[in-house]
Amino acid sequence: MSTVFPPHALAYLPLVDGDQTFPVRRVYCVGRNYAAHAREMGSDPNREPPFFFCKPGDADAVIAVPAGQTGDIAYPPVTQDLQHEIELVVAIGKAGRDIAVQRATEHIFGYAVGLDLTRRDLQGQMKAQGRPWEIGKAFDQSAPIGPITPQQPGAPLTTGAIRLQVDGVVRQHGMLEQMIWSVDETIARLSTLFTLRPGDLIFTGTPDGVGAITRGQTLRGEIDGLAPLQVRIV
Ligand code: MN
Repeated sequence: MSTVFPPHALAYLPLVDGDQTFPVRRVYCVGRNYAAHAREMGSDPNREPPFFFCKPGDADAVIAVPAGQTGDIAYPPVTQDLQHEIELVVAIGKAGRDIAVQRATEHIFGYAVGLDLTRRDLQGQMKAQGRPWEIGKAFDQSAPIGPITPQQPGAPLTTGAIRLQVDGVVRQHGMLEQMIWSVDETIARLSTLFTLRPGDLIFTGTPDGVGAITRGQTLRGEIDGLAPLQVRIV
């Protein structure tokens, strides 16, 4: 049977080695998962269980940036305050629901560096009115991601530095072990709410230091052990 128009393009993330790619399904994001960032956003990091929001998983929102390249990201419309959030992205390789914390690592295919780009002014307006965050978070090109580094057996990525530079100046710098909810705890919790499937991505939250970016700036995100992500705002 034919479709009434061509099917939408999936987003595919390259792996750091080899010719295979990772087809993206859904993009889940964790809010306020580093204490210092929770404080800079005006909330108490000690009292909140993890909460989630989503971005589209399609090729309009997810921009795959191959190793060694600089991705062009268009400054989005209807905002005066586009902000960067550097994050560890976990790529799910095995389906599951109600996953135990102790088994969560088995569901991880690999890891990448991602940017949770945010129209902070629009997100702030929605927060103030108790409304959904999509207009602040789920716009086109809102999720640039670098290549995936497959997880090595028995070696989950739980420690190391995470940092973001804008035009060579460090804006965000933290450690993965500063996460309030670990990757395994996040997977366990998220899988009580949604059945996770291969192709799902989880943005695991950002350290403090988020801030505004403008056209012409180049962002470079780095996490120890992973391929860096570099984009330019155009
Ligand atoms: Mn975020």
